Amino acid sequence: MRNRPDKDGTHRGAFERNKKKIFATCTTCGICGKPVDFSIKYPHPLSPCIDHIIPIAKGGHPSDIDNMQLAHWTCNREKSDKLMNRTMEKQGDEIVSNRVLPQSQDWKKYRA
Ligand SMILES: [Zn+2]
Repeated sequence: MRNRPDKDGTHRGAFERNKKKIFATCTTCGICGKPVDFSIKYPHPLSPCIDHIIPIAKGGHPSDIDNMQLAHWTCNREKSDKLMNRTMEKQGDEIVSNRVLPQSQDWKKYRA
């Protein structure tokens, strides 16, 4: 029990290695398909980040390069928001009232 592979350095090391590889070889966002500017730094919404194609929460591999892609920070964020909304929809009707609000983009910023 002491050496769970997702808790010790194994995945972290592999993730960092694959992240460097992706940053060195990829130039476009895997979510929106637009170019990623590596001179932009976090927390800018268009800063580069790594997206897990299948989210770890959904059983995706945390450090396999096949499950990792280059993405804009904001695209990655929006994707996880959508996944979260989908989960919330199953739980009740409350999400429906949020949908009638105009300018969902501003609403998200407000929440953040
Ligand atoms: Zn993007």
